[in-house]
Amino acid sequence: MKRICVFCGSSPGAKPEYIQAAQQLGVLLAYRKIGLVFGGGKVGLMGRLAQAALENGGEVIGVIPRELHEKRVAFSGLSDLRVVGTMHERKALMAELADGFMALPGGLGTLEEIFEILTWAQLAIHHKPCGLLNVGDFYTPLLAFLDQVVEQGFLDAAHRSMILTAENPEELLQQFETYRPVSADKAAWALAKGDW
Ligand code: AMP
Repeated sequence: MKRICVFCGSSPGAKPEYIQAAQQLGVLLAYRKIGLVFGGGKVGLMGRLAQAALENGGEVIGVIPRELHEKRVAFSGLSDLRVVGTMHERKALMAELADGFMALPGGLGTLEEIFEILTWAQLAIHHKPCGLLNVGDFYTPLLAFLDQVVEQGFLDAAHRSMILTAENPEELLQQFETYRPVSADKAAWALAKGDW
C-alpha cells in the first residue's frame, strides 16, 4: 500500500482522543512509509494529522480547491500541495492518488467524502479498502444506522461489509492490508429486488 487518503474534521472535536488518534495515524503512516493524501488544510484534525506525518519524515500530499487555498487555510510547508479548481476535482484527484481511504471523526465534509468513496466502491468504480476509525465510539451510532439501512432493504449486506472499522489506526491499517474486494454487483442486487 503506497498511499492512504484520510478524510477528517477541519475542527479538533470535543474530546482530546480525536486529536491523539489523528497524531497516532500520522506517525504510523510515516513509520510504515505509507504516503498521506489529505485535504491540505492546517486546521483541526487535518492539521494535526499532517503535522505528525511530516515531523516523522512521511510523504504528505495535500489537495485543496483554489477557493479554500485563497482563504489561507492551507497547511504551509507541504512539499506537495496540489491546488485544484473545484471540490469535485479535489475528490477525483484524492481518489486517484490513494490505495485506500480512511475517515477519522469529522463533520459534514468528512461524511460526504467517505460516503462518496464508498458509493464508488459499491459500484465497483474502484476496489480499494475503505474504513472508519471509530475513535471513542464516534461512529458507533452511524454503524448502527447502516445496519438499519440493510434491514430496511436499501443496502446489500455484502456492500455494508465493505466498511471496515477499528478503534485504533494500527488495527485499521492491518485490515486494509488484508482486504479482499467485495465482488457483489450493486445493479444485479437492485434488479433482484424485483420492483421494476
Ligand atoms: P468537516 O468534516 O466538515 O470539517 O470537513 C472536513 C473535510 O472537508 C476535509 O476532509 C476536507 O477535505 C474538507 N474541508 C473542510 N474544511 C476545510 C478546510 N478549512 N481546509 C481544507 N479542507 C477542508
